[in-house]
Amino acid sequence: MQKLRDLPIEGVAERLGLRVSRHKCLCPFHADNHPSLSFKVSKNTFRCFVCGESGGTIDLVMKYLRKDFLDACRWLSESWGQVHDSLTRQQNHATCPIDSPPKPFDASKYERFFERPWLNGEARKFLFEERRLDARVVRWCRLTSWKDKQQVPWLQIPYYDREGKLVGVQNRNLVKGAIPRFRFPQGSECSIYNLPVLNMLKPGDELFITEGCSDCWAMLSAGHKAIAIPSATLLSRKDKEQLSILNSQLSITFHMFPDRDEPGERLFLQLREVLPSLVHHQLPQDCKDFSDYYLKLKIVHCPLSIVN
Ligand SMILES: [Zn+2]
Repeated sequence: MQKLRDLPIEGVAERLGLRVSRHKCLCPFHADNHPSLSFKVSKNTFRCFVCGESGGTIDLVMKYLRKDFLDACRWLSESWGQVHDSLTRQQNHATCPIDSPPKPFDASKYERFFERPWLNGEARKFLFEERRLDARVVRWCRLTSWKDKQQVPWLQIPYYDREGKLVGVQNRNLVKGAIPRFRFPQGSECSIYNLPVLNMLKPGDELFITEGCSDCWAMLSAGHKAIAIPSATLLSRKDKEQLSILNSQLSITFHMFPDRDEPGERLFLQLREVLPSLVHHQLPQDCKDFSDYYLKLKIVHCPLSIVN
């Protein structure tokens, strides 16, 4: 339980889909236009100075996802596969549901969904009309979709390791502004995205690193090879080691268009610690991230909308 309380609160907020910048974010508990919820990293807590909501990691999940205490603990441990592993290895005494041995990710339950990907209307609208992604990229990433019992449409995003083994699944809610925005099946390891692309790299190639898989799809659609990192706060030591190994194994150059905000620059600096030659590319002033930039380029070069 203490391990769940000790998960980095800003990382938990990001997993919930909140955008953290300079230890603040828009408060999801009242109609907020200016970030009034702040995080105290030293105490691992949050507090909104307008509506007064406050607490730790478990409280944040309970309040945001409207879950009871045990369900919030379960959500935290499930969406934190790697942490959960070390948590249960250390605590062998099963006294509470979350302390019971973690079920590892069961790839056999999900593999078949990605063998014949199927995109429902909501997914097609999101990928091809709103994001204007290249259909070849969507096929390469094996994106698929489904609807839950409440008929909520979800985009299902598979995470593979370098050998092409399915290691995790991320579900993205296709209803705008819906809560929760993401769901991860038990034990999913969703850290570095699109690792199979590494097998296609030739010496001298450029590899772009993006923040999150949707920027990665935009980068791939723009004709670049790319992998994605979840975010600065969710970047684990294991991910950093993996990147450092790539740097020594492959004779390629690493590139990045950091998001035009403080977390984006923070991620760039963190990555440069393991990839000293990482090249910084600046997004134009009116583009907050690469997807935004990609869309603007797309509209300039292809003024006749394919939407209509
Ligand atoms: Zn508030």
